[in-house]
Amino acid sequence: MAVRYWGWLAAKLAVAAGLAYGFWCLAVDVAGPGPTGLLANWPRFGSDLSYTVAMALAVIVAFGLLWLCAADQLYRCHTCARRLKMPASEGGNLSHTMLGGSPFTTYICTYGHGKLYVPDVHLSSSRAIRWTGYGNLWENLMEAEREAVKK
Ligand SMILES: [Zn+2]
Repeated sequence: MAVRYWGWLAAKLAVAAGLAYGFWCLAVDVAGPGPTGLLANWPRFGSDLSYTVAMALAVIVAFGLLWLCAADQLYRCHTCARRLKMPASEGGNLSHTMLGGSPFTTYICTYGHGKLYVPDVHLSSSRAIRWTGYGNLWENLMEAEREAVKK
């Protein structure tokens, strides 16, 4: 079911690419027409200030949209692509990091697909962000209940 997760990312990237292209076209319109005559084939980027600034803004907007897509995707369930909820801070205290371990936050999918481990302190020795899938948690619970009823 990771198809939904990657499909959601692809859809967001497609929308972001459309927005970036629209902003690019708007920026070219705002920059005005290129020079004519002897400079007609001269590259505008770097020699025409308004065009260069417009292109710089378009690139910044495009990378900003890309960053928003990546930041949003990080906190989504890897199975159903819903936003992860219920952040719970766990682990050690910031003042006792060496003794009690580094603090971290876990986010869960409310449909029981898994949890996301996010370290609160970024040390060279700390663990990276990682997703732990639960598989079919609800089906396992229902099967356990059926087994309990049989006994
Ligand atoms: Zn989920």
